[in-house]
Amino acid sequence: LRANDLKGGEVAKAMESALAPRITALKNRRMIPTLAIVRVGENPGDVYYQRSAARRCEALGITVEVFAFSESIAEEQLANEILNLNMDERIHGVLILRPLPGHIDDRAICKALDPKKDVDGVTDRSLAGIIKNEPQGFAPCTARACIEILKHFKIEIAGKNIVVIGRSLVVGKPLSLMLTALDATVTVCHTKTKDLPAIARGADILVAAAGRSRMITKEYVREDAVVIDVGINTDENGKLSGDVDYNGVCDAVSAITPVPGGVGTVTTAVLAAQVVEAAERS
Ligand code: NAD
Repeated sequence: LRANDLKGGEVAKAMESALAPRITALKNRRMIPTLAIVRVGENPGDVYYQRSAARRCEALGITVEVFAFSESIAEEQLANEILNLNMDERIHGVLILRPLPGHIDDRAICKALDPKKDVDGVTDRSLAGIIKNEPQGFAPCTARACIEILKHFKIEIAGKNIVVIGRSLVVGKPLSLMLTALDATVTVCHTKTKDLPAIARGADILVAAAGRSRMITKEYVREDAVVIDVGINTDENGKLSGDVDYNGVCDAVSAITPVPGGVGTVTTAVLAAQVVEAAERS
């Protein structure tokens, strides 16, 4: 790790310290904040995220229950399992690991979830809250993680030119709306964007959420840019890699999030924070 790294661990630690007294207060009211993680199949990425999220939450005193289903579960049965979790009073938040297998309609499963338990911002209510900039539901954890990193390191958002590469419902789209609400001027780029390097070079803050291993090279960044790398990919050698060519870019920019140890680390802290928030609201 380098001096200009925006270390996710530092952000997560600060967030977790702020959570500790809130969890204690809940426990004094005989409430143990509880997260259900729903996993379908044995995708190694899902299992990895489940384990690291569970470890971080449990260390804070949040109970985690894993509901693992076979790859071949029918859509209707999975929807019923979600409805059961909606009714289960012990459970405050539900994280559904996605993407789900191809035979299951992702949106149908997300729609089944009670918005009050939607700690990863997948329901229409949560998404509407982001569009309207109203406090209803929850933000997708990864999108909020990017913002927590900028805030923690006191990187100004208002008035800045921010380029977000990626427009998915999980990261790019909600994040660009959240940054707009914080008074940034946001450009959203995607696979059909022309001359991406030139647009990216105009960014004060560049967010890479394309899911393309090391696509962001030096020609995409300006010298004083801040780079947030959301990507979690495997490179041609099966090694974990971000969307940014870290070694090629790190000396050229003012600050950068490493992978691993950047956005992903903060994402699990945001998840914990949103479970606590859901328990407090319940
Ligand atoms: P996605 O595939 O759903 O969306 C990718 C987006 O990037 C699309 O909108 C697409 O138009 C755009 N895109 C793809 N290739 C591009 C290119 N060459 N040029 C410009 N735009 C391009 O992916 P996602 O779910 O949004 O995830 C993006 C990345 O973030 C992945 O690597 C994923 O693993 C990672 N991720 C990380 C976390 C975390 O906690 N750090 C959480 C979720 C996703």
